[in-house]
Amino acid sequence: MYKINEKIDEIFDELKELSEYIYNNPELGNQEFLSSKAHIDFLTKYGFEVEEHFIGIETAFKAVYDSNKPGPTIALLDEYDALPGVGHGCGHNMIGTIGTGTGIVISKFLDEIGGKVFVIGTPAEETNGAKVDMADKGVFDNIDAVLMAHPADKSYASIQSLAIEAIKFEFIGKAAHAASDPEKGINALDGVIGTFNNINALRQHIESSARIHGIITEGGVAANIVPERAVANFYVRATTKKYLTELVGKVKNCARAAALSTGAKLNISNYEKTYDDFVSNESFNKLLLENMIEYDVEQLENNRTSLGSLDAGNVSHKCPTVHPMFSISKTPLIAHTKEFAMATLTPYAYKQMKSIIGALSKTGIDLLTNDDLLKKIKADFDNVVSKEK
Ligand SMILES: [Zn+2]
Ligand SMILES: [Zn+2]
Repeated sequence: MYKINEKIDEIFDELKELSEYIYNNPELGNQEFLSSKAHIDFLTKYGFEVEEHFIGIETAFKAVYDSNKPGPTIALLDEYDALPGVGHGCGHNMIGTIGTGTGIVISKFLDEIGGKVFVIGTPAEETNGAKVDMADKGVFDNIDAVLMAHPADKSYASIQSLAIEAIKFEFIGKAAHAASDPEKGINALDGVIGTFNNINALRQHIESSARIHGIITEGGVAANIVPERAVANFYVRATTKKYLTELVGKVKNCARAAALSTGAKLNISNYEKTYDDFVSNESFNKLLLENMIEYDVEQLENNRTSLGSLDAGNVSHKCPTVHPMFSISKTPLIAHTKEFAMATLTPYAYKQMKSIIGALSKTGIDLLTNDDLLKKIKADFDNVVSKEK
């Protein structure tokens, strides 16, 4: 009844150009000036009202198409940040293109069916996810449902992701000649090494789905000087916010013990935002899965238990959210690599992009036109999120 594929075909060449433009101009988180402008120009051209610098973030935006008739509000989330060294190795050039494309396709039916569609540009997913601030500031509180899609090597309607906290341990010791006056020094690097060793002992006693991984970012300046300053950055991940909090407490104690044993002073801080786990919505996933099948998204597999983390997790705690993955390669593909980036430009990736835009558009239209469906999805959401508290 709604000729979705026809509407996709009308803009598909332009969508490919958009994705390629962003691929060719990879920009790191919060520096996505060209990428966000490309989306803004595209959405403006198709009749969206755009608020730039949304919630005070320079490369964020909110684009609105309002039918001025009563009805639900559906939001698509765009990402467009790249990674250092590997450009669009996470395929966010496609994520944004799919959000913008789906928003436009839905808008073409909106005057007839009523409601509103938002396309929200969400910078810096890989580092300092803007969705966290948006969720904290209530951006998603009056939105009925959020949709987006991420490229991968297989396709999944439903996903899980881990809650994550980024912790920086800074040890301050005392410099001294490492050979002639070692007793006068306090070795900050030993504080960092002690932290790693304590955490490695802790690993035996954590839930098997949790992850703790770190690097040393500063470890002294010369081998003949007792390191005065040493810094380690860690990520701690867990399947729930609750267990994350517990585990982070234990990890911090590992560093405190190392500070105590070395005499170095310890400063603990967060170097990136904390992401929540992703709340999966059964009814929403089911609807999406039916539409992914209908629109021929290939390589569909069962629920993906990803051990990564997403800032969409924070959104999923505020309103019903889907974050499907769709395959862009028939051979195994590793995210955050140049090969992954290149795969986003292949004919197969474009075929799948068209299918996922179809599935998301159809899902959006289903929610805008079927009250009972939306009610059921909201009931699922309330059920899961209220239990967490
Ligand atoms: Zn990524
Ligand atoms: Zn990603």
